Amino acid sequence: MRVSFKTLGCRVNLFETDALASRFKAGGYEVVDGGEADVFVVNTCTVTNTSDQKCRQVLHQIRRNHPDALIAVTGCMVNHRKAELIQSGIADYVIDNERKSALFDIIDEHFKKGYSDPEGYDRDLFSYQPAFDTFHTRSLIKIHDGCNNFCSYCIIPMVRGRATSRPANDIYDNIRSVVDHGFKEVVLTGVNMGRYHDGNTDFETLVEHIINIEGDFRIRVSSIEPDQFSDRFLQLFQHEKLAPHMHICLQSGSDDTLKRMHRFYTTDQFRELCQRIKTFRPDFNLTTDIIVGFPGETETTFQESCDFAREIGFSHIHTFKYSKRTGTKAASMPDQVPETVKTERSEVMRRISLENKRRYFEQMKGTRERMLIERIDANGRARGYGAHYLPIQFSAQGQTKNSFIELTISDIINKDNEDRMAFIGKP
Ligand code: SF4
Repeated sequence: MRVSFKTLGCRVNLFETDALASRFKAGGYEVVDGGEADVFVVNTCTVTNTSDQKCRQVLHQIRRNHPDALIAVTGCMVNHRKAELIQSGIADYVIDNERKSALFDIIDEHFKKGYSDPEGYDRDLFSYQPAFDTFHTRSLIKIHDGCNNFCSYCIIPMVRGRATSRPANDIYDNIRSVVDHGFKEVVLTGVNMGRYHDGNTDFETLVEHIINIEGDFRIRVSSIEPDQFSDRFLQLFQHEKLAPHMHICLQSGSDDTLKRMHRFYTTDQFRELCQRIKTFRPDFNLTTDIIVGFPGETETTFQESCDFAREIGFSHIHTFKYSKRTGTKAASMPDQVPETVKTERSEVMRRISLENKRRYFEQMKGTRERMLIERIDANGRARGYGAHYLPIQFSAQGQTKNSFIELTISDIINKDNEDRMAFIGKP
């Protein structure tokens, strides 16, 4: 049996798909990437209206091109719009986030017995087997799910539930097994990782323990909220195993907007956190998320956001146009910003992101980077990322995929295109 996966959204979704693909493979299925398949699994996202639209398009396209295939839809759009998906009749199975980890068993039971009842399976956010056969060179490790913050624009607490931490020992075992299997980088991911808590183990202690796991591998902390990290934690970034890069979500550079977003920090506190990080690692790479066009955002407060983004110098700003989500507080706030204004503002913020990236790349030019080779194309061009999450290319001379190489990052290419800007590396 052939199974094909389509994943939308965040790294937590990507982790879950990787683990499910590995499970199907271990269960004797062939995992195919595109083309014909007997089963299609769509792991959805609902963070914005655009995400919902993309998920619908993917489902319709699969049903149109593969009328006889079995389709299972899961993920955050299921938890947000379950009735709509069931009524559409486009998928054979509609499986919520809490039962996503049982998806293989549900589909396998279907083929053995002709039908399966997803509601009959346990809800478990973490019972995924270690993913060995994944779609990525780096191993994603889910450590946390759900959120209790209820930022006024965010639908995630309603579709991923309350903050829940995966048992620390499961995380350590997961990492040992993927490192033993040959992975060179593990990416810690979760909905609100900074709030991780398992008994006496908080996020900082967890990362410290992971650093002490034996093996030549690198640890990357993916998207995280700007919690007040201790100096002890920030000092850990001086360890060569811990990648000096974090994607810390700012959302707005205006205190007035942050307040109405129900964010739990001010720009002064955010600035202070960034300065402390740079004290330990002046070369640290900071990236972020910023929402433009939040209800009530004026030209003045938008300008404050722009000035703050320049001041901190994020090397990448993932810019989101505010998207009204049913059931969130912001959806009923006054002074909703017109779409045209949101589009203008997101273009301004993208230009700032490009300027910042150029500045950070110039700062890093000529330094040594330890690159993880993620792919080598037919012309022998090797591509991958350095510890600072800088994209690097070089002409391979016998190196192999999924191996580290020390390089001097010299020339910068594609300076006008943020998505394609990269370094040429010299061994
Ligand atoms: S911290 Fe805020 S933005 Fe992040 S998942 Fe929780 S509610 Fe959403």
